[in-house]
Amino acid sequence: MKTTAYAAHDAHSDLVPYTFEYRDLRDNDVAFEVLYCGVCHSDLHTVRNDWGNAVYPVVPGHEIVGRVIEVGSSVNNHAVGDIVAVGCIVDSCQHCDQCEKDQEQYCREGFTPTYGAPDRIDGKITQGGYAKHLVSREEFVLKMPEGLDIAKAAPLLCAGITTYSPLRTFGVTKGSRVAVIGLGGLGHMAVKIASAMGAHVTMISRTPDKAKDADELGANAFLLSSDEEAMAKAANGFDVIIDTVPVDHDINPYLPLLDIDGTLALVGQIGPIGQPTTVPLIFGRRRVAGSLIGGIAETQEMLDFCAEHNVLPDVEMISIDQINEAYDRLDRSDVRYRFVIDMASLEGPAA
Ligand code: NAP
Ligand code: ZN
Repeated sequence: MKTTAYAAHDAHSDLVPYTFEYRDLRDNDVAFEVLYCGVCHSDLHTVRNDWGNAVYPVVPGHEIVGRVIEVGSSVNNHAVGDIVAVGCIVDSCQHCDQCEKDQEQYCREGFTPTYGAPDRIDGKITQGGYAKHLVSREEFVLKMPEGLDIAKAAPLLCAGITTYSPLRTFGVTKGSRVAVIGLGGLGHMAVKIASAMGAHVTMISRTPDKAKDADELGANAFLLSSDEEAMAKAANGFDVIIDTVPVDHDINPYLPLLDIDGTLALVGQIGPIGQPTTVPLIFGRRRVAGSLIGGIAETQEMLDFCAEHNVLPDVEMISIDQINEAYDRLDRSDVRYRFVIDMASLEGPAA
């Protein structure tokens, strides 16, 4: 199947229209028309080759909502016309201990990301959701629950699950004291989801004018990271801190904010990070952890949770031809709080 998309051809050029051939449907494949696709900072990291592993041309996009147009002969869980979603993972081995535990993101053989890596069967490089169509193995296609506004829901597929998973894993529940560092795409979802879980949520930001937004998003308190006095007063105040900062940064100022046995979960920067000191870790049994997106079952649980609690991202809808400008703005943290591409703006072959 031929489809149209927007792709980056190298680390320094704009994304441009791109046409390519999708694989023929396998028995367990679902093909769908992409309706909406969120714009994650990981898309920008990949396009700019920040992680050194980009394969060009790359069609980014792993926050995808679409409508099924065709299913393979053995697909029972999805039917033509269904509204479905795909996040960051499109395949995994399905038999290792991690896949058996529904933790496909930690598959021992490595999960297949939605874009930029070889398909497990034919070796063709996967391409993401800034495209008119997508084909994915059925186990990795999620159901959109009734009641979620599909025009806004796409960012749940990455920003939502990446924050939901560590909040659950590290035991956040009613009354937990949670802080979120960095009010961007992931950060604003962390605030909304932790609030919906009943936690007391503090937004930690370097940007003073985001205080009002944090309040509107549901945060109970706002802490300016450059305000040393306020940071000192906040010591020992949190059970869990979710750090979404996308660049190398010093985590030392945040460690004393954890209470005894508290956990700082890093989800933002992938790569080296400052020089953490062991002092607050040892004198307080505090932990620094990392967390990668979430498994497929947990992603479905998160979608259902968001539908039940009416949690939706704050989105700025753009057309596909605004994507390069959107990247510049994302780079400057000038988005409140997630761009979503209305894929109807992309001309393409009829479904
Ligand atoms: P984003 O929308 O750009 O938000 C990042 C926020 O971090 C900004 O709004 C800003 O908030 C803060 N920030 C930005 N630059 C900073 C700097 N130089 N120093 C301190 N704070 C800074 O990005 P996002 O889409 O939420 O993604 C965040 C990171 O998570 C990216 O690196 C992305 O690749 C990663 N990610 C990881 C996973 C995973 O599975 N672990 C999944 C998805 C994304 P303030 O203005 O409030 O400070
Ligand atoms: Zn992402």
